[in-house]
Amino acid sequence: MDGANQSTDCQGAAGAGTAGGQPLHPSWRRWLTAAGHWLLPPRCVLCGAVPDAGPGALCLGCRSDLQANEPACPRCAEPLVQPEPLCGHCLRREPPFAAAFAACRYAWPLDGLVARFKFSGDVAAGRCLAELFVARLAQTPMPRPDVIVPVPLHRHRLRRRGYDQALELARDIRRGTGIPMAADLLQRRRATRAQTDLDLAGRRRNVRGAFAVNEAARRRLPADPQVVLFDDVMTTGSTLAECARSLRRVGIRRIQVWVIARAPARRSGVAVGAVSGMAGTPE
Ligand SMILES: [Zn+2]
Ligand SMILES: [Zn+2]
Repeated sequence: MDGANQSTDCQGAAGAGTAGGQPLHPSWRRWLTAAGHWLLPPRCVLCGAVPDAGPGALCLGCRSDLQANEPACPRCAEPLVQPEPLCGHCLRREPPFAAAFAACRYAWPLDGLVARFKFSGDVAAGRCLAELFVARLAQTPMPRPDVIVPVPLHRHRLRRRGYDQALELARDIRRGTGIPMAADLLQRRRATRAQTDLDLAGRRRNVRGAFAVNEAARRRLPADPQVVLFDDVMTTGSTLAECARSLRRVGIRRIQVWVIARAPARRSGVAVGAVSGMAGTPE
């Protein structure tokens, strides 16, 4: 768990600085933010327009284009046509986690932001995704977790890409919520191939046994912890389910899943429900 010794990191939630190590008075912070905007008006991360009103990196038009993931299965966040207590997939096979929350559906224009962050390392797009997630989370009643655990990236892929997108987003979410992060709790034991071209059975096989729990990190958790597994996009949930099974093997029982965006699961290669503009999701 690294939240306890990262308190200075958490003060940066609103992008405000500090003076001589002391937090700025809120009125100064507002004034500085306003002055900064006057000198260089912030642009919408998606369309480049000057935002109409309110905080955040998106203009009102782009914000209203985003699709909230509602209604959705409370257990696995699968997008639904109408509210149901559980989706058909969860009725047939219970996921190894208790609940899942997705801020948005994986659809235009959010898919573009995810791609810009994930494949081009666009930091502003990443900030925007984390900010959207925190705003939606604040409107959703749910138990507060003890720790956020980002789905780990294998070191080979990390070396190629240069950064770990789930970890970077989880860091911003920690700053926005104050919930500690345990980035070292799960470790990837082996590299797995990209899930994009695999069907459900292939995805499950691909990630089986891919994760291990770091015993030293587990010992730092409180007793009977409420753990949140975090990833950017969830499609079938195979990767998140395998992470949850690894946690359950060491006795962690209370597990939720949080993702920025949920794509409808493709079961046996067949899309269940269509989302306009959806590209293959690199789960
Ligand atoms: Zn816009
Ligand atoms: Zn479900």
